[in-house]
Amino acid sequence: MIKNPVPWPNGARCAVTFTWDMDADSILHLAHPNDASTRISTNSMLKYGPLIAVERIVGMLDELGIKNTFFVPGWCVERYPQAVKMILQGGHELAHHGYLHEYPNMMTRDQEVYWTKRGVDSLATASGKKPVGYRAPWYRFSKHSLEILLDEGFTYDCSLMGDDNPHLIRCPKGDLVELPGSIQLDDWPQYVHNPDVDYMMSIVPPRVAKEVYMAEFEAKWQYKGFWVNCFHPFVSGQVARLMAVKEMIIEMKAKGGVWFATGEQVAAHTRGLIEAGTYQPRIDDLPYYDARIPEFPESYMPAG
Ligand code: ZN
Repeated sequence: MIKNPVPWPNGARCAVTFTWDMDADSILHLAHPNDASTRISTNSMLKYGPLIAVERIVGMLDELGIKNTFFVPGWCVERYPQAVKMILQGGHELAHHGYLHEYPNMMTRDQEVYWTKRGVDSLATASGKKPVGYRAPWYRFSKHSLEILLDEGFTYDCSLMGDDNPHLIRCPKGDLVELPGSIQLDDWPQYVHNPDVDYMMSIVPPRVAKEVYMAEFEAKWQYKGFWVNCFHPFVSGQVARLMAVKEMIIEMKAKGGVWFATGEQVAAHTRGLIEAGTYQPRIDDLPYYDARIPEFPESYMPAG
């Protein structure tokens, strides 16, 4: 079912990378720059992430003995230093997620360079280390993102969704390890219901969300794939939901043969195999298209 799986360390059946995007209220200021200050309840909902949930998440991970990756916009790093300190003290990876969660694919190349560097600077100042992992805000990876990430010394991206296995994304400048995710392992479709962030899903019980996530895990375990989620502290860090996350980790551990690793570790492992010539990854050349496809010119209007 899964072609060309990556050989995992110690013969593990699959690799599991838990990631958390600590967006906090950056997304509200981005969506409503002029009146975010008047949307106090939504603001409080989003601040629940850094102020309440992160401590709980980090505590749970410490108890279970696994390290996760936290993608944090630079503005949130500056705004919520206590949460970032807890993440770093827990030994987790701090990775790049824009500066104010801005949209890379709606900017010029120069603007994207500016905001990417600003995010890098915030994370490097807080942690003493330049980030090596990146997830585009809203998954909005741009035509320029790969080149910019290569210039900034990143080793992996975690924004795309085009494979079951880690692979390479390539442009003339070079290549980067891609850790592909999937929307069914994001917690917004299961839980987020708020008009200020334009997302109005019917909320499901944690056991149902867990069933979605664990179905993916069972498949990846059986066919030696790679499981990476995208959870958010303000969403899955709520008590009932985090109880389900804890159950998931306990069940994954009990099943055995699972390599729990950060994004940085999975990328380094994959790159190491490629360099040693023991694994041939699939290579995705980016961008997929330079412009509008010629088969569908602007003059074309469909009938009806
Ligand atoms: Zn985000």
